[in-house]
Amino acid sequence: MKIIDSFNNKKVIFSFEIFPPKGDTPIEKIYDTLEEISSLGGDYISVTYGAGGSVRDNKTVEVSSLIKNKYGVESLSHLTCINSTKDNLDEIINKLNENNVRNILALRGDIPESGETKGDFKYAYELIGYLKEKVDFGIAAACYPEGHFQCENLHDDIIRLKEKVDCGVDYLITQLFLDNNIFYNYLDRITKARINVPIEAGIMPVINKRQIQTISKLCGATIPEKFIKIISKYEHSKEALRDAGIAYAVEQIVDLLSSGVRGIHLYTMNNPYVAKKILENVNSIIKSINE
Ligand code: FAD
Repeated sequence: MKIIDSFNNKKVIFSFEIFPPKGDTPIEKIYDTLEEISSLGGDYISVTYGAGGSVRDNKTVEVSSLIKNKYGVESLSHLTCINSTKDNLDEIINKLNENNVRNILALRGDIPESGETKGDFKYAYELIGYLKEKVDFGIAAACYPEGHFQCENLHDDIIRLKEKVDCGVDYLITQLFLDNNIFYNYLDRITKARINVPIEAGIMPVINKRQIQTISKLCGATIPEKFIKIISKYEHSKEALRDAGIAYAVEQIVDLLSSGVRGIHLYTMNNPYVAKKILENVNSIIKSINE
């Protein structure tokens, strides 16, 4: 099934993102996490894509296939193109197809610090065009409420996004944000640019200090005053910080749901406890919207 069908059948959808075991860590290490997250009843689970290159050196395809075929939940396989040749991409696409995984989050990926890339494509829109020619898959793409860090201004960022969507994107998932007003302003700009596909809001529950450094380093998301206050108050207690992080994410989600968001994409960081607590808090709201 294409994930866009869920958007078409429901007013709002809820999904989870996980990452596959890294390096030499065996695939079995993720079984418990998969089992727990799959049982929560989300619309789909997405699996990030790390290592560039062939099927052999990353576990994204295998984990996406397990979600779909063993746990019976729709899966969305992330795929980056910046460091992959068409042959590498074909290998992955064929493997996904054989395993009945028919949804891809088509991404460029980050350019390595050396600036050297060995892929056949420079941008996500080229990968999307390639996928559209080759397979009848559901295709999602990424978008950035605060602008992609390499785009010179927010106006150009939206123009690039529109070009990307016009290549055949079904729906978009946002980079994480911690201030809903940033997302609402972004939706206004997207609507004005006549981008009409559903947008899923990417929410990351911040439950430890390490994540905060990652957020500022990787995506430069604005960190609101209210959030800083919470972190500095509870940073010395693991449990208090975790619970405050869950509460913050729940508050963000309730506000988004009440404002008519089409989907919530939860960056779970492979933590089923946190994913479960959050969904428990918003499940009745989602049900009532979809009734
Ligand atoms: P693009 O849409 O290609 O945009 C990249 C930059 O190029 C932007 O600045 C854009 O404005 C610019 N641009 C686009 N078209 C043109 C053009 N024609 N001419 C000039 N400039 C142009 N990374 C991973 O490695 N693995 C993952 O699993 C992963 N999952 C992600 C999931 C989500 C929801 C998000 C939001 C990001 C994810 N990323 C992942 C990070 C992503 O790969 C990086 O943010 C990357 O730098 C950009 O990818 P993109 O697909 O948005 O690129």
